This record gives sequence, structure tokens and C-alpha cells, in this order.
Amino acid sequence: MRSLADHTVDLLVIGGGIIGAGIARDAALRGLSIALIEQNDFSSGTTSRPTRLIHGGLRYLELFDFGLVRADMRERETLLGIAPHLVFPLPFVLPMYRPSLWYRFKLRIGMLLYDLLSLDKSLPKRKWLDRAATLDAEPNLDPDGLVGAWRFYDAQVPLARSPCGRA
Ligand SMILES: Cc1cc2nc3c(=O)[nH]c(=O)nc-3n(C[C@H](O)[C@H](O)[C@H](O)COP(=O)(O)OP(=O)(O)OC[C@H]3O[C@@H](n4cnc5c(N)ncnc54)[C@H](O)[C@@H]3O)c2cc1C
Repeated sequence: MRSLADHTVDLLVIGGGIIGAGIARDAALRGLSIALIEQNDFSSGTTSRPTRLIHGGLRYLELFDFGLVRADMRERETLLGIAPHLVFPLPFVLPMYRPSLWYRFKLRIGMLLYDLLSLDKSLPKRKWLDRAATLDAEPNLDPDGLVGAWRFYDAQVPLARSPCGRA
């Protein structure tokens, strides 16, 4: 704070969570001079507690918020591109147990929309796994009533690894 007393900056960012840090980075890359003020420590707020998913927001499709899903998908692709050392593809397996016709239909449409809104993605394509392939991929799943699963990809920033390789 003292160092700011005798000079002005183009942009003052208050809060050093991911949003403040992201804004500061973006503005600095555009040539602006920045000061970032944090009352505790960087990432000491909500940013220290997430699941670290860089996801397209599959669940927002249920709310018909296609604009948000598309924006999330674009951000995901950008982050995979600019920070490949931090952001990694993450496969999800969505098992289906005795699904009703309506649920199957709804999920299929959801998957289709998720694909359409991320046509330019670099992540692997989604795949339907039959019952045997699902149990191959996830042997601990309860086989009773299992029909199969959708495997699709999002991304995540994994937990930092210690020098000895343990998470
Ligand atoms: C359980 C959980 C799981 C989540 N999972 C995900 C996920 O998988 N993927 C995802 O994208 N998002 C996830 N999120 C959401 C994500 O964590 C938040 O959207 C994000 O961290 C918000 O960042 P922020 O910078 O806005 O806020 P914060 O990280 O809270 O940063 C705000 C900072 O501002 C500082 N501050 C506040 N007031 C002042 C002041 N007056 N002066 C100086 N400094 C100040 C605070 O100290 C703090 O460091 C999750 C959140 C939770 C709680």
C-alpha cells in the first residue's frame, strides 16, 4: 500500500483470488500497469477450496443457459491452451442404472448439445460404454441394474504434486 502512495496505476484490483489474479494478468498482458491488493494472502478465500474443475457446465444445460455453457467451453479450451502444465483433461463416467426412456433421451440430448456447443474442442470425444466396458473402466461400480455409461471429458487442475511425486 505504501508503494502506491507516490505513483498511479491504470488499474487497481482489490482481491487476490482467481478472479482478481485473472483480471490482473489479463490487464497486464494488454500493457496496463496494475496494482493488486489482497487483505490476507493470495487465494486465501474461496479460491483455496474448489474442486478445481475447468468444466463446461453440463448442468447449466438443464437451465437452458446455452450462452453460459458455450462461454465456459471456450474458457476451458483457452485454459487448456495457455496452461497445459496446470490444466489436464479429466474423464467422467456417468453410469446409468435402469434408466427410464425419458432419462435416456434427456441425457442423449444433453450430450449432443454439449458436443454441439464445443465443436472446436481439443478434448477426446464422448463415448457410450456398454455394461461390460463400463465395468472394465470402473470395476468398483455396482453391476446390479447397470446398463452402461457415458464417458465424457472436462478438465481439472489437479492437486499440486510434492517433489516425491505424491499428491
Ligand atoms: C466447494 C466449492 C467447489 C467449487 N468448485 C469449483 C470448480 O470445480 N470449478 C470452478 O470453476 N469453480 C469452483 N468453485 C467456485 C470457485 O471457487 C469460485 O468461483 C472462485 O474461487 C471465486 O474466486 P474469487 O476470486 O471471486 O473469490 P475469492 O477466492 O474469495 O477471492 C476474493 C479475495 O478478495 C480478498 N478481499 C475481499 N475483500 C477485500 C478487501 N476489501 N481488500 C483486500 N482484499 C479483499 C479476499 O481476502 C479474497 O482473497 C467452487 C467453490 C466451492 C466453494
